[in-house]
Amino acid sequence: MTIPMVDLKKQYAALKTEIDAAVSDVLAQTQFILGPNVAKLEEEIAAYHHLPYAVGVANGTDALLLALRACGIQAGDEVITTPFTFIATAEVIALLGAVPVFADIRPDDFNIDPGLIEKKITRKTKAIIPVHLFGHPADMNPIMEIAQKHHLKVIEDCAQSFGARYQNQPAGTLGDAGCFSFFPSKNLGGYGDGGMVITKSEEIAGQIRILRNHGSSVRYHHSELGYNSRLDEIQAAILRVKLKYIDQFNSARRKNAAAYCAAINRKDTVLPRVAACCEHVFHQFTIRTPKRAVIATALAEKKIASAVYYPVSLHQQEVFLKLQNYSGKLPVSEMCAATVLSLPMFPELTADEIRLIADVINHAS
Ligand SMILES: *Cc1c(COP(=O)(O)O)cnc(C)c1O
Repeated sequence: MTIPMVDLKKQYAALKTEIDAAVSDVLAQTQFILGPNVAKLEEEIAAYHHLPYAVGVANGTDALLLALRACGIQAGDEVITTPFTFIATAEVIALLGAVPVFADIRPDDFNIDPGLIEKKITRKTKAIIPVHLFGHPADMNPIMEIAQKHHLKVIEDCAQSFGARYQNQPAGTLGDAGCFSFFPSKNLGGYGDGGMVITKSEEIAGQIRILRNHGSSVRYHHSELGYNSRLDEIQAAILRVKLKYIDQFNSARRKNAAAYCAAINRKDTVLPRVAACCEHVFHQFTIRTPKRAVIATALAEKKIASAVYYPVSLHQQEVFLKLQNYSGKLPVSEMCAATVLSLPMFPELTADEIRLIADVINHAS
């Protein structure tokens, strides 16, 4: 038996009839760009989040980039974010000529520590990007309080947290904009690239609609420098099928996480914790252990995958060091980068597979 990090084949097999029919319909309609499925998916995702607006874009990175621009972030501005995330979160800040400022994380949920944000605020600070990493919401209440006090925009990176909840509010609905990725391995994943921004602001939604389509709202009339960043119609059709099952998929992930927690019993290993106010969607199931190499090797010997998300904290990435001297230490992020290990996690993982994985981990030495 080999166990991958994610097995997309099982989900396709289960939904094949519906997905194949949805794709065939698009091929028959031949309306491939900004067609009816994109419009419907936008409505359905807005409704899922009880927000008035959702705008489909080409991928999660562009969702962040366009949301930053729609929030008015410009060259020279500073944007506070977490150093423990996928590069895209900070990359888009720097691509706009703005400066990513990293505030360290909490070890219990791997998310930005609200208590460390205020000391990073300067006259140039314009926004905060919290990331709901691995599917666990960042601590949004104190973040929103700081943002209101200092008149900062809040753009939520929800690439890993579709369907997660903070105090019963869906992730992505608390800040000015919530940005999703539909990369195939995400909780709600298409069969190619895709992304979306949700917002309660008519102005932000309108601006993103213009930016995604070459800065144009009326064909061949361009008011802004924009992008070609549209959500593909075939992806939208596939995502509409999968959206119907997302809560079921997320429940299965939670059940798998609980099974891991019950079965793994190493004294040297910290299991994921879920804050009482949060509903986790376990995009990743990530442990912390000083025995990472030993455990990963033992798993690999049994053909079980594991992965390190993320091995290098962003303030130590070559690309950001070339742009700026991040001299300060971010000890929690560095400690996590050195000790985290993510285990196979997807809805269709079986109880037997989880028992086997836990058994290998418990006996690795
Ligand atoms: C996947 C991801 C992104 C980028 O999404 P793409 O669709 O791959 O562009 C951004 N932020 C985080 C935290 C992610 O995991």
